[in-house]
Amino acid sequence: MVDRQKLYEGKAKILYATDNPEVLISYFKDDATAFNAQKRGQITDKGKLNCAIATHLFKVLAAAGIPTHWLETPNEREMRVQAIKIIPLEVVVRNLAAGSLCQQTGLDLGTPLEPPLVEFYYKNDDLGDPLLTRDRIKAMNLADEAQIETLVRLAEQINQVLQDFFQQCQITLVDFKLEFGLNHQNQIILADEISPDTCRLWDQSETSLSDRILDKDRFRKDLGQVAEAYQKVLQRILAQGSLS
Ligand code: UDP
Repeated sequence: MVDRQKLYEGKAKILYATDNPEVLISYFKDDATAFNAQKRGQITDKGKLNCAIATHLFKVLAAAGIPTHWLETPNEREMRVQAIKIIPLEVVVRNLAAGSLCQQTGLDLGTPLEPPLVEFYYKNDDLGDPLLTRDRIKAMNLADEAQIETLVRLAEQINQVLQDFFQQCQITLVDFKLEFGLNHQNQIILADEISPDTCRLWDQSETSLSDRILDKDRFRKDLGQVAEAYQKVLQRILAQGSLS
């Protein structure tokens, strides 16, 4: 492989530069972390599975008019993506209560949230990714009012498209995390990845509370069969037909 300049290594991906300053390579690793990287492991072939799943979901979103950083998937672990200035917010959309929402509010697991919640967390491991308010986001100069409105609108649109898509796969989209950035035209676009690492996905054909889990909660809770669950998600997605 040609030597490439590594720009950034995160928990699940590595970003490399290309000849074109407007284009980066995002390389998907098999490394898995949870609980702010206190739990670490490897999931065999996770990088390939997430690259394939995220590629398909970016195509579904692009077809619905959502601007994304995805350009091309030249091989099974890499995406060519638009270079962006990341907005250090994790935008979480919740259709059913799970995870930290249940822990922090006492809401029962699976409580329907209508309308869905759109929440902002500060992308900062040292501070433990705290929940933010809109006023805090403005006070911290992370985004202005208009940008916050755009993030909420995009998150709601993405949720609508993905909920409908996963429904066709007999999968319930419980919640998910999005990251956005500004491209060279200063447009807010969807970045990072959407995959079982960043979503909670429940198999509608399973009634058991643990067997239905098709996402990173299998790793977080030591439920086993993690790669098999991700593989099942990919198979269901591909069965919906390919998008060019
Ligand atoms: N999530 C993520 N990265 C994070 C935090 C959360 O991808 O750093 C995803 C997580 O997989 C879930 C959703 O965002 O689909 C909501 O996560 P939650 O706030 O419930 O946190 P958790 O229970 O994962 O601590």
